[in-house]
Amino acid sequence: MRPTRPADRALSRPRRRLPAALAALAALLAVGAGVLVDLATPAPRPADAPADAFSAERAYQNVKVIAARPHVAGSAANDQVREHIVGVLRGLGLETEVQDTVAPEAGQLSGAAGGATLARVRNVVARLPGTDPTGRVFLVAHYDSVQSGPGGNDDAAGTSTILEVARALAAGPRPRNDVVLVLTDAEEACLCGAAGFAADHPLAADGGVVLNLEARGSTGPVIMFETSRNNAKLVEAFGRAAPHPVGTSFAVEIYRALPNDTDFTAFLDQRFVGLNSAYIDGGAVYHTPLNVPAAMNRGSLQMHGDNALGLAREFGRTDLRDLGSDHDDTYFPVPGGLVRYPGWLTLPLALAALLAVGALGWLLRRRGRATAGRLVAGAGLALVPVVAAPLGAWLLWTAVTTVRPGYAELLDPYRPVWYRLAVVALAAAILFTWYALTRRWAGPAALAFGGLVWLALFGVLLAVLVPGGAYLTTLPALAGALAGLAALATRRDGPWPVVAVTLAGAVAVVILLPTVVLLFPALGMGMGGVAALFAVLLGLAALPVVDLLHPQAGGQRGLGALRARRLGALPAGGAALTAVVLAGVGLAVDRFDAAHPVPTHLMYALDAGTGTARWLSHEDDPQPWTDGYVDGTVSVADDFPGLGDGELRAGPAQAANLPAPKLETLSDTRSGDQRVLRVRVLPQRPVRLLTLHVDTSTAEVRSATVAGRDVPVKARDGRWGFGVVFHAPPPEGVEVTLTLLPKAGQVSLRAMDASDGLRGLPGFRARPADVGVVGSHSSEMLAVARTYPL
Ligand SMILES: [Zn+2]
Repeated sequence: MRPTRPADRALSRPRRRLPAALAALAALLAVGAGVLVDLATPAPRPADAPADAFSAERAYQNVKVIAARPHVAGSAANDQVREHIVGVLRGLGLETEVQDTVAPEAGQLSGAAGGATLARVRNVVARLPGTDPTGRVFLVAHYDSVQSGPGGNDDAAGTSTILEVARALAAGPRPRNDVVLVLTDAEEACLCGAAGFAADHPLAADGGVVLNLEARGSTGPVIMFETSRNNAKLVEAFGRAAPHPVGTSFAVEIYRALPNDTDFTAFLDQRFVGLNSAYIDGGAVYHTPLNVPAAMNRGSLQMHGDNALGLAREFGRTDLRDLGSDHDDTYFPVPGGLVRYPGWLTLPLALAALLAVGALGWLLRRRGRATAGRLVAGAGLALVPVVAAPLGAWLLWTAVTTVRPGYAELLDPYRPVWYRLAVVALAAAILFTWYALTRRWAGPAALAFGGLVWLALFGVLLAVLVPGGAYLTTLPALAGALAGLAALATRRDGPWPVVAVTLAGAVAVVILLPTVVLLFPALGMGMGGVAALFAVLLGLAALPVVDLLHPQAGGQRGLGALRARRLGALPAGGAALTAVVLAGVGLAVDRFDAAHPVPTHLMYALDAGTGTARWLSHEDDPQPWTDGYVDGTVSVADDFPGLGDGELRAGPAQAANLPAPKLETLSDTRSGDQRVLRVRVLPQRPVRLLTLHVDTSTAEVRSATVAGRDVPVKARDGRWGFGVVFHAPPPEGVEVTLTLLPKAGQVSLRAMDASDGLRGLPGFRARPADVGVVGSHSSEMLAVARTYPL
């Protein structure tokens, strides 16, 4: 064992080490607390708040009416919600109409059934005419809910926010620009309402600025997570006019990686510009029966409203012709506001950070603080926690889900905070262990340098691949390198090195702490490793401060060294123990019970032609309750093409006495080798959707028209090579015209429809209280299908 040379000592090693360490720690904790306060939701304002202000309590009265029960597009419950919304808007004296149309889906939704997707939609559209309009501002939210829950947040929050914003706007002076309120239908099914409005409504013809309001969970800060391209002027307005401007250019990149979509997509398809905002924490209730009004954090509602009202006023008065820009901004929240800079600065800044870190390495070597070999070793070693922390988080969550398999079907646990803290503690344990093991050999200067090297390299990589996220590592790397250079330029035993590294640590906390905090709800515990990665990057950026806290370990021999090493293991051991305890507390606290039921997925599919029926489930590892219905795994692609072609769990069921949709031939003509078949698909019971598929081994589909609309002829895999999905079909059915190239004497068509709810089916037993329903678009679906040879 060799003694540590003085050259290997910390970048900053003042004589009064403990007070300096405590002061630095206190400063960083204060900055961290400021960050968390900034992300907290505001207090909901009472019902007697001034008329020109947004009141969450007033808005909540509408939430209770809208989300009284599930109101999927096309249902009688949704008719009532729409009538309520129309009544409120007319009561405010606004020109209000219902756009009733058939619209295709928007965006790149992967319709489970494949093929063309459409819906009959009824959008509520109201206008507050401007005094001297330069364009239109659109406030958008969807009023329909999923079939499996009342949509207490998703999107009664957005809809009620718009109604309360409309009230506040109507109570004040008229805005300069038109403000158009669009409450869309069938968002959950296919974004069809928004697509129909954006493509066909006269008020949408000239485009405009869209503010879309959503809620994926039930609580947490409202995040502005998506913008149109070239967003610089929009983001500037957001930072200026939103009272709680929480938004980051990194969120856009994260959001693109998630399988979610909103109405905003439909507007972007039609070249609107705008901003998309949602609160996302409390994701356990997403799309479930538990998404009731009472589950809503009204502080989140207040935040939605404050921002929406501020932005509606801002865009209501500015010249909307001036919103164009030729670039995106990088932006992120800091306590008290939003920092933004032009996106074209991203790469130069990343290169500057890399250069600064390089200069730091050069100076460290020149000053004899570390040899070239040690610097290279420091860079290599710093990669260890960067890899180990996400891996550890993944292993931790694998262990937790082994103990509690029911988590597999949840976006996030009901009470995720213990697990989130456990992941952070685990990341700290990994960092401290790594530091205790490598510090003596590599020296603190080389390790701090190594951490900065990776932050700077990630910055360059992100600048090229994910520019909106480059600030996350570029700015901490730049701050850390500049602090290191400043520390080397000042007296080693004076206070300035500590001040410099503490300032750099504060930059890292301001930038990376919100990222860690917001990534957990955004991605769920299954991807907690991403949050762990950013937590460990925060630790690396603040490594000189970590070193101040690290027990003295250098320069001693014998017993002293042994004692120091034991002390050195203290933070690591403490953090590891904390991680285990927190995960244990999570398991103990977040148990499934009647208020937090274990989610289960079940469907029923009846072939009315053969009189056979099956229970089906999407659960990979079925819960005991679901196990009572399903055993093997099947693909239903041949029998129920409307249910997609993935593998499902299945089990035999008694056939219910339910009719399949009827197929009426309206006309059947042949000319040359073509056959034009006009049919009406007519549901025989109240249904949410119907599908029609063509066996493309019997005929090739040349073109198709559904409810008067031409639909693209997209080929799908398997026997049923062409399909149409129609949501919210009217009672009189849907007319489909197929131009076919026959390959056999008869063409085979398969019609399916689906309703919701399994109660009353033979063999179905109600769930016990602690068993719930998965929030999905097919939970509790009851499908009936039949093949028609024509
Ligand atoms: Zn939804």
